[in-house]
Amino acid sequence: MMISVPKQPGNDIDVYISPLIEDLKLMWDQGVVFERFANETFKMHDMLFCTINDFPAYGNLSGYSVKGHKACPICEEDTTSQQLKHGRKTIYLQYQRFLRSHHPYRRLKKAFNGHQETSGPPTPLTGVEVYEKVNNIEHAFSK
Ligand SMILES: [Zn+2]
Repeated sequence: MMISVPKQPGNDIDVYISPLIEDLKLMWDQGVVFERFANETFKMHDMLFCTINDFPAYGNLSGYSVKGHKACPICEEDTTSQQLKHGRKTIYLQYQRFLRSHHPYRRLKKAFNGHQETSGPPTPLTGVEVYEKVNNIEHAFSK
């Protein structure tokens, strides 16, 4: 599905996604019977595995905050950010920590924040930890 509108839908993206979700639920619960080439039939179930979208749409789809000081969905509370004095924009630092330990960019102090990066990436959450975080989220659709 590609949403092509002059202005991004924001949280109204659920208006476009809702029919897709209904079809996915139906196909997950009941499945759909398909006929193969040699008159054989099979029942197909489906699931939404992943989405490809820009960062603002990611925020709208997931409900995750993609603005502010803790906007990185990987680093979360450990996000290193700074607000620029004159532009008042929030910038995100320390992203070299995702590079391999001997990557030359880790030593480029002047090109980044003036510090050599020695820390590693944050530890990914386990499936149980992710479930505990999202288990009790209540979502109110906008339309
Ligand atoms: Zn991050």
